[in-house]
Amino acid sequence: MSTPEILKPALYAAEGTSTLPDHPSLRGGKCQCGYVFFPLQTYGCEVCGRTGDALQPVALSGGGMLIASATVHIHAGRTPPAKADVKPHTAPFTIGSIKLDDGPTVRTLLVDVDERALKPGQRMVSKLVSVGSGAQTIVDLRFTTAS
Ligand SMILES: [Zn+2]
Repeated sequence: MSTPEILKPALYAAEGTSTLPDHPSLRGGKCQCGYVFFPLQTYGCEVCGRTGDALQPVALSGGGMLIASATVHIHAGRTPPAKADVKPHTAPFTIGSIKLDDGPTVRTLLVDVDERALKPGQRMVSKLVSVGSGAQTIVDLRFTTAS
């Protein structure tokens, strides 16, 4: 079996963090002032305005708390796939806002969830799912409810 290809390697990694080793980590950044953000960028800290080397990469744990979720039943048009051999999203799909344990809030697609059972405050974890439509295994990041 070949190693799965990560769809967006700039945003997340298959490896977890020391606090949450079993779930993929997100590639965030941390400023000298202590502010943690996602995704990583070096243009400037939203809090103190520091730029460049003051902003360093940090792996964020793939765990957090659900803030809100919404299920899209009718999708206006097809979402263009990120790559030619990646399946497009098809409705219905569920989007969630998740406040990560490490600070930042991310908006992400949820998988393997019962939308009627989703409640704010629920524990969520990251997960890589196969999104490829061809021979190559391509994985993308999603969140699901913690078991
Ligand atoms: Zn800062």
